[in-house]
Amino acid sequence: MASSRNKENQQKYPRDKPWSLDDFEIGKPLGKGKFGRVYLAREKKSQYIVALKVIFKDQIEKYKLNNQLGREMEIQSKLNHPNVLRLFGWFHDAHHIYLILEYCHGGELYKLLSKIGHLSEHQAATYIASLTKALAYCHQKNVIHRDIKPENLLLDFEGRLKIADFGWSVQSTSKRKTMCGTLDYLAPEMVENRAHDYAVDNWTLGVLCYEFLYGAPPFEAENQIDTFKRIVAVDLSFPSTPPVSVEAKNLIRLLLVKDSSKRLSLQKILEHPWIVQNADPNGTCN
Ligand code: ATP
Ligand code: MG
Repeated sequence: MASSRNKENQQKYPRDKPWSLDDFEIGKPLGKGKFGRVYLAREKKSQYIVALKVIFKDQIEKYKLNNQLGREMEIQSKLNHPNVLRLFGWFHDAHHIYLILEYCHGGELYKLLSKIGHLSEHQAATYIASLTKALAYCHQKNVIHRDIKPENLLLDFEGRLKIADFGWSVQSTSKRKTMCGTLDYLAPEMVENRAHDYAVDNWTLGVLCYEFLYGAPPFEAENQIDTFKRIVAVDLSFPSTPPVSVEAKNLIRLLLVKDSSKRLSLQKILEHPWIVQNADPNGTCN
């Protein structure tokens, strides 16, 4: 029922008539981001539930992000994959920009991970397979995310993973360097400011796979300089608890490879025995 309604409504987007705030009933706040707030909302005509992200124009202007936002919204609205958060459309008024986003009832994967400590191999493999499929789709469209981390991964009502915040990828990376955020998910070629390509996302899959299974990223350290050193040296070790299968560790080792051309390809990740044996074929795990 929900999915057939979903299909029906997806076909209505984008539409010819511009959206406006009058088209929506606004519900509870879902969260607060760096540039605005996110609300649960219902499109009046179709009764379709969405997440409405309200961005303050003065913030965007202050950080000179107008062009960036426009370009990236254009990219994200053209992506249509079950594991990429849909951007159905956008509109603006005098002071705000509104993004009409797919609603994710399960919230951030990060919150689930903090609550339960670490994921089961079934959950971890399911999410890694979903992410790999989403990235293969994006790479094929010449889009590199570059900022995949648990905070940017949302879960829908069936526990299906969705990559969010596509639009901010380039921006949040450069901002993080100056605003003392985490380096944990960045590939060696990125922290060393060398040229990089699609393989940065493959490295990040290795970091996330480790974090899903152990509850903390592999190169975590007291400060950014030490994290930097550990990433560049690929200082990787596996704790004895929680117990993790040999196959999972093998996949992580094949992804956390310094030479980006030698990292396991996305296709090979999906064929890896640990993924084949553990991932849910439907990508759902509630
Ligand atoms: P930014 O995206 O501006 O860099 P951010 O990622 O911290 O910052 P937002 O993306 O604005 O923040 O999201 C704020 C909060 O709203 C998130 O913590 C998330 O829990 C919730 N949220 C965002 N988008 C959705 C969505 N599509 N469905 C459900 N909850 C959402
Ligand atoms: Mg976000």
